[in-house]
Amino acid sequence: MGNPIYADIVNKIQEYTTIIIHRHLRPDPDALGSQNGLASLIRQAYPEKKVFVAGENEDSLSYLGSMDSIPDEAYEGALVIVTDTANQPRVSDKRFVKGDYLIKIDHHPNEDPYGDICLVETQASSSSEIIAKISFSTGGKLPMNDAAARLLYAGIVGDTGRFLYPATTAVTMEIASKLMQFDFSASDISQMMNTNSLKTANLSGFVLQSLTINDVGVASIILSQEILGKFGAVDSDTAPVVPLPGTVEGVLCWGIFVEQPNGTYRCRLRSKGPIINEVAKRHGGGGHPLASGANAKDESEINDIILELEELAIEWQNTH
Ligand code: AMP
Repeated sequence: MGNPIYADIVNKIQEYTTIIIHRHLRPDPDALGSQNGLASLIRQAYPEKKVFVAGENEDSLSYLGSMDSIPDEAYEGALVIVTDTANQPRVSDKRFVKGDYLIKIDHHPNEDPYGDICLVETQASSSSEIIAKISFSTGGKLPMNDAAARLLYAGIVGDTGRFLYPATTAVTMEIASKLMQFDFSASDISQMMNTNSLKTANLSGFVLQSLTINDVGVASIILSQEILGKFGAVDSDTAPVVPLPGTVEGVLCWGIFVEQPNGTYRCRLRSKGPIINEVAKRHGGGGHPLASGANAKDESEINDIILELEELAIEWQNTH
């Protein structure tokens, strides 16, 4: 289970007195779980150290912790650890480069191998799984605790879609099992993540009713500012609707295109087979083979993305 880099990371944690942990913009449960879970592990093992968590707060995920207000001076001589963030432009709070030493811990394809230590395990379900492995395999130097176990379990549940996606491995289940032995309610976490505001529930109904599904299994929907406004929703309310097209029979890959206040579109791409992150990369984004994000400047670029997904879907159907 271990990786020799785990010990190097723990050594650096032991060496520094100030440790600042960042993660990506628009945080999801794995971003917050890995960030706050690691912070909890360090705080418990080394109460004399100053540990900060950086980035914007996400109100809908406040049960996974809140961020610290960090003075600029804190970065002087600090160890900075960035979790769950493939590339530097996506790090929340750009001061992450101002520390003395930088560590990247991530599970996305390593397109931007930044950091003095760069620990990237693309076979891991989540960054939370990696943080838990570091704790469990470094001989008690960063021992697991109840609060960290809860946060890391939430991160794993979030990124695996409650153990639905293929990134869920035997190791994922082993780690989840070890985390569940700590004192927190795994069921409460799953219920929390399965509960949406009424506006998101209404938006979900709209997405399922209005989805365009073509005959090669590509589904798509544009959520304009006008539609979001009708439901009283904003961009961050769209996360729970992203997996929905995949629950419809025959859908192979899909895009949810969320209009931003500036008129461009956030493209949330998902797949149950075809590898879609190359499409995302061609449109200013990236991500995992089956879960990627991109940006489209207008509806014409959205149509290009849908066409590219169709080509992948046809190729996939011809070979499977
Ligand atoms: P999302 O649809 O925002 O949940 O993103 C799904 C996946 O794609 C995540 O793993 C992100 O890391 C990745 N992703 C989303 N947007 C971008 C982007 N603009 N650049 C690179 N990766 C992205």
